[in-house]
This record gives sequence, structure tokens and C-alpha cells, in this order.
Amino acid sequence: MPRLYDRLAAIVGDRHVIAGQSADAEPYVSEARGDYRSTPLAIVLPGSTDEVSQVVRACADAGTAVVPQGGNTGLCGGAVAGAGDVMVAMKRLDRIREVDAMNGTMTVEAGCILADVQAAARTAGRLFPVSLGAEGSCMIGGNLATNAGGINVLRYGNSRQQVLGLEVVLGDGRVWHGLNPLYKNNTGYDLKQLFIGAEGTLGIITAASVEIYPYPVRSRTILLGFSRLGACLELLSLAREESGDQLSSFELIPDIAMRAAAEHVEGALGDGVADVGEVVLSLFDGFEEVVLGLGGFFGFGDRFVDPGLDEVDEVVPQV
Ligand SMILES: Cc1cc2nc3c(=O)[nH]c(=O)nc-3n(C[C@H](O)[C@H](O)[C@H](O)COP(=O)(O)OP(=O)(O)OC[C@H]3O[C@@H](n4cnc5c(N)ncnc54)[C@H](O)[C@@H]3O)c2cc1C
Repeated sequence: MPRLYDRLAAIVGDRHVIAGQSADAEPYVSEARGDYRSTPLAIVLPGSTDEVSQVVRACADAGTAVVPQGGNTGLCGGAVAGAGDVMVAMKRLDRIREVDAMNGTMTVEAGCILADVQAAARTAGRLFPVSLGAEGSCMIGGNLATNAGGINVLRYGNSRQQVLGLEVVLGDGRVWHGLNPLYKNNTGYDLKQLFIGAEGTLGIITAASVEIYPYPVRSRTILLGFSRLGACLELLSLAREESGDQLSSFELIPDIAMRAAAEHVEGALGDGVADVGEVVLSLFDGFEEVVLGLGGFFGFGDRFVDPGLDEVDEVVPQV
């Protein structure tokens, strides 16, 4: 085994280094669709920012490339390591360092699962709005590295918009201390933004201070069926105007997806519904009294769809 492997084991402990060719490496070197496969020298699991720093420094000294990995849900090859590279898996950096409900901020380590970040905010009566299909396994570091969007972008913006500060290990192992939970920070260059969406090319994010929001007092989800795509866009525009921009989610499910759901999930389209038309519009969320005034939009739906989902409060009848 090359000397770099031993140096890495000395930093994180033998238990936290996995040889790239071993069976234990499988969850890290393969991804769900089977489109990509890594062939690293090793997978290293550091337990602190300092250990990440030492690992990166050791790799830099050896001239070995480093690839960070979060929940491995990106599915487009970003977390794939080449032959002889070192993968740095972030899962042990999973501490919620602070939740400050009064300040509307929380500081979390990069290996926190997104759903755990949401839950910690919820426990404090706050909302962390980044939400996407992979939230049960993707990690906040991966979300920031990919500037993930999700279903609440309309109201809250992409992951980038939630970040107040970052802690990052740079390519030579130095730590960039940019963790600043100050909302009204207008000083100088906004360097943290360079690391967001950079997919680990400029450094490994080890922690982040993010914004959390008052939990919605009232929200409502409405499902509408359409046969004309243009009507969906008209509704989107109108809904934003009429609600004072309190619309948080507006998702389009194409008929091909609904048909696939119908094929695999019994009752997905509701009783007696065979055809949902060209396009189905779903997830119409808002807050406060505004959501109660949405009746005016119902006329836009031209198909009845019974989704059979508990979360849907309102199903719009055919008009
Ligand atoms: C079912 C499903 C639904 C999804 N929905 C959405 C969606 O609605 N909107 C959207 O934008 N995306 C979506 N995605 C893709 C989404 O961007 C990723 O799933 C998620 O953000 C990546 O997080 P991860 O922890 O799994 O990162 P990984 O897949 O492990 O890594 C992704 C990239 O980030 C880098 N990286 C990981 N951690 C760090 C770190 N700490 N520091 C620096 N770089 C790092 C990796 O090297 C890699 O380049 C979805 C994916 C799935 C599977």
C-alpha cells in the first residue's frame, strides 16, 4: 500500500480509511444509476475540520487529487474519483453546531443530512427551506457545492441564497474561516459565493451558517390538471401577483411522469381517471389568508385529477 495511505490512516485512524478496491468501498465508488464508477486509492472519512485540513495537506504534498463526497446523490459524475485519487467522504462531520432561532440562523457541518438540518430548524420553530427528492440522503455540503434548488426556490431562492457564512478547507489544506451568521454583512468581496456551486473544485466546505425562517403559519397544496402548457404559465404569473409573491412551490409534472406513476402505483391518478391530459400542475403552496383566496384561480384547471395524496388539501374539479 502506498505511503500516502498510511499517512491518511494516521490522521483519521485506521477505522476511517477504506481501501478503494475493497468491498467496503462500494457505496462510495458507485452511484445509484450505475452510470459512473470511481477507482480511488482510498476513501477517507475525517471527523473534524482539522482532520479534513490534514488529509488535504497530505494529498497536496503527495500530488494526489482529492474528491469530496456528500450523500453521493448528484448522479452526474461530480463526486467520481479517478484512479489513485483520494475521496473525502463527509458523513462524520454531521454536527449541528448551533441553532439560533432569534437570529434566524443555524450553523451546521457539511456532512449533516439535509432532512436532519430541516428537522433541527423545525424543532426550533423555524423553516430551512431547501427541500428536494434526495433530502433523506444528500448532505448540506453537497447541496451547497451544487447550489441545489429544490421545490421552494420561487420563494426562498437556491441554496446559495440561504448561506450567510462558510468554513472551507482550501486545496493546500489551509482553512478559510468565513463562518459569519450576520445577515446584514455588506463588507468587501463575497468570497463564500465562489465555493457555492463550485462542486469542490475550490475547496471542501466543512461547515455553513445558513438562514432559517419563521415556520409557515398556513400553507395549502393544490393540484390542478391542464391540457395546455400555456395556461400553467399564466397561472404562475397570476398567482405570484395576486398572492403578493407568497407562492412557494410551483411544480410541473408532465403527463409522461403521471403515466409512469399510474403504471407503477395503483390509484396514482385517482379513481376512474384514465387520462390526465398533456400536463398536470402540482404543489401550489402559500401562506396565511392569501391561500384561502386562491379560489379565483380554480377556473384555470381543465381536468379533474384525484391524486390520492394526503398532503394535497385541494383537488380542483373539472371546469
Ligand atoms: C431524487 C433526487 C432529487 C433531486 N432533486 C434536485 C432538485 O430538485 N434540485 C437540485 O438542484 N438538485 C436536485 N438533485 C440533485 C442534487 O443537487 C443533489 O442530490 C444534492 O444536492 C447533492 O448532494 P450530495 O450530498 O448527495 O452530494 P454528492 O452527490 O456527494 O456530490 C455532489 C458534488 O458536490 C461535491 N461535494 C460534495 N460535498 C462537498 C463538500 N462538503 N464540499 C465541496 N464539494 C462537495 C462533490 O465532489 C460533487 O462534485 C436531486 C437528486 C436526486 C437523487
